[in-house]
Order: sequence, then C-alpha cells, then structure tokens
Amino acid sequence: MNAPTKIVTRFPPSPTGFLHIGSARTALFSWLYARHHGGTFLLRIEDTDRERSTQAAVDAIFEGMKWLGLDWDNKDVVFQFARRDLHAKVAYEMLEKGLAYKCYCTQAELEEMRNHQKANGLPMRYDGRWRDRTDHPKDLPFVVRLKAPQTGETTVKDRVRGEVTVQNSQLDDMVLLRSDNTPTYMLSVVVDDHDMGVNTIIRGDDHFTNTFRQVQIIKAMGWPMPEYAHVPLIHGSDGQKFSKRHGALGVDEYRKMGYLPEAMRNYLLRLGWSHGDDEFITTKQAIEWFNLEHIVSSPARFDYVKLDSVNAHYMREMADADLANEIAPRLQEITGNAVTDAQVAMLAKGMAGLKQRAKNLKELAESAVFYVLSRPLPLNDGAKKILTTDAKAMLAQLRTVIDGLNDFSAHSIETAIKDHATAQGKKMGDAAQPLRAALSGSNVSPPIFEVASILGKQEVLARINDVL
Ligand code: GLU
Repeated sequence: MNAPTKIVTRFPPSPTGFLHIGSARTALFSWLYARHHGGTFLLRIEDTDRERSTQAAVDAIFEGMKWLGLDWDNKDVVFQFARRDLHAKVAYEMLEKGLAYKCYCTQAELEEMRNHQKANGLPMRYDGRWRDRTDHPKDLPFVVRLKAPQTGETTVKDRVRGEVTVQNSQLDDMVLLRSDNTPTYMLSVVVDDHDMGVNTIIRGDDHFTNTFRQVQIIKAMGWPMPEYAHVPLIHGSDGQKFSKRHGALGVDEYRKMGYLPEAMRNYLLRLGWSHGDDEFITTKQAIEWFNLEHIVSSPARFDYVKLDSVNAHYMREMADADLANEIAPRLQEITGNAVTDAQVAMLAKGMAGLKQRAKNLKELAESAVFYVLSRPLPLNDGAKKILTTDAKAMLAQLRTVIDGLNDFSAHSIETAIKDHATAQGKKMGDAAQPLRAALSGSNVSPPIFEVASILGKQEVLARINDVL
C-alpha cells in the first residue's frame, strides 16, 4: 500500500480525566509518523460528552503534550462540540441523498424489539423497520439512521491488524443524529477527520470495532478512505488492560515522579514499536526510523523497572548544569527556600556523584537536598547512630586538620584525613563516616570528600561545629 503523499495524522483525546499514558503513546506514534513524513499532526479535543468534559482536563492535555514535546500543527485546536452543527448538516445531507433515513421508533418500541430478539436468541440489532417507509408522521421526534448496505461485506485495511472483514448483515443501521438533533460520536469523528484532511488514523485498538461503522459512513459519503493503524493497548504486569489498579497514571503524574520527557518518549515508543534490538532511541532517531510496519501487534506490558532504567540512562546523559536546574524547583519545594544561582552551580558540581544513584528527578532532588539545606542540618537515624562520643572526638580533630588545608580539592582532603586517621591508629571509615554524618545529615551520601570540596571549607567547618 502506498502511503498518501502528504501525511496528516491526528490525536483526538476526550477531556474527561487526566491525559492517560496509553493515549500519550498513540499521540507519540501519530506525531512521529507525521514528523517522519514531513506531514501534519493535528490536535482535536473530543468534548462532546458535556457532563464529563472539563476545562481542567483540556489544560492537562495541552500541558501533557507540551511536556512530552509533542507539538501540534493546528494553531486553532479543533473542539468537536463546537462543530456539532456541521456534523448534523452531514446527517441531513445524507438524508437528502437517500443515504440515511428517519426512524421514528420510540424507546418503548426499541426495548420491545430487543426483548423479542433476546427471547428468540436473535442477534440484538435494529431491524430496519423505518428504512423503506414513506408514511412519515408529522411533528414526531425521529433519529437519523445510516442506510447501511445489507448485503456484502465491509473490510478494514489496517496497517497493524491486516485486512479484517465483517459481513454487512452483522451491522445494523446506526444512529447518526439523535432526536435532539445532536450528532452521535461515530458521525462526529468521521466528519471531523474528513474536514481536517486526516488521512492516517493511528489509535488504540479499543476503537477497532468502531472502524467498520466509520468506514460505512465514509463509503456512503464517497470520501477518501484514511489509512488505519490500530495499536494494541498497553497491559499491566498481570496481562490485563493497564489501569489505575496497576499504577497507570496521567502524563502529569510521570512528570511529578521525576521522569524526563525524553525518557518517557523513548520508553513509550519501545512499548509497542521496535527497531531491531535498540533500547535507547533518541527522538531524532525515532523521527528518522518510525514506521507502521514495526508496531508490535500484541499488547506490551508496562514495566516500571524498565522505565526507571531508561530514565536513569537519560539522566546520566544530561549535562550536569541542566540537571541542577531541573531539580532546583523540586529542592525549593522540599526546603521551602529559594535555590540561589550559587547553589545551582554547587549542585552542578555535585551532580557527578549524585546522578549515578538516582533513577528519577525526584530521587535526585531528595539525594541532593543536603547541599542546600540551611544549617543546622537535621540528622537522620543513621547519622545519629554514627555520631557517638568517639566519632565526635574524631570530628573535633578533623576540624583542625581541615582548617589547616590550603588545597581544598577532594583529593587533598582525602589524603589529609587518611593520614590523620592512620596516625591515630584508626581506619579511614572512623573518620569518613562521622564526616559524612556531619556534612550530609545522613549515613549515605555521594563520595564524602567530593562533597566536602564542593561545600567549601567554611561550610564544612560550620557543619562540623553544628554536630559537636
Ligand atoms: N476520543 C477518542 C478517545 O479518547 C479517540 C477517538 C479516535 O481516535 O478516533 O479514545
């Protein structure tokens, strides 16, 4: 199959909750496909469910997309509800052309039809009783139904699933316009995609069954058929659809947890698409390589361990100064104090030691907080345990040793302290651990002589004094 010349993809989330991570993945695929082909990626907000759609959810979509770096090409985002009259117009056009018809069935009638079908073991579908009637009542409410073909078959050519065919006898005449003149979802989606010039629809395969009905509308209208690629849904570790129960969250939550957008993009991409055995794929490479052929046809499982390791990789790759700037707002939140430029510079110096250990920005900020805390530092239980009378006596001696140093490099501090410990018949740990407790308030920290060097002599002496 030849791809259309100018690819136009879209992402049409419903603003009824947070921006689900699974939706973000289909958005990423659509975005990558458009970018790969030099095409267009459009955003549409499907806000026709007036009860459940909220402005907060619309904002979460915009913010989530921006954070993920998925820029859309339509300056004026399409809001589906605002286009309802245009959708209705198409239904009336179809009526006029004889592609649709008015159905005057009451709720009670429909219920009776269903009950009868149920009782007789018949498939439950509208029986087409108004399809060919011309004796239309005046002033009674009606719905507009598609005059769907009753014989033959409808085939969906899907780039992931292949060709799937359904007998038209299995599909009933769906409602296009409700009796209150509001279009149904099925109609709105098709009209919007057509009007927006969308020619490639990449979406979750929970929409696959809808596609047959949408194809029927498109065919009836004689519109160009888009290409479809239905992406298997993400599953949780137990093989069930990834949901809140598995810790499936909105995009914003992943940002808060301290995942980097480039790591998220890489992880989401690999969760459902492959390029050989490549695990780390930059966004530039992804744009270069992305295709529909390598969408994985079975559901992938969301794996936090994997996500952590991808994130840790991107954190290690990031420039120290950038990481320091990234965690500054988090540190401010933890300590309640603004982080100064001097502190950011200090954090950047400490980053080599800090970033080896952290899997995400949250952990990184937590492990870096001691650098920026106001004195005296709170001591954790481990630090308190270390700071025995003997340890404090050692620290008092180290104070003099440190005070005497002219060269305050990590190496110089280490040598001086080692020499002192040896001269006292002690082990290195007897000196290093109390120093760690005093400088970091904890029993774990990055290499402590490096920490001391970064903090600077005055701060080191002051922090030692604080615990004595
Ligand atoms: N609004 C639908 C959703 O959020 C998407 C429909 C589509 O992709 O066609 O699931």
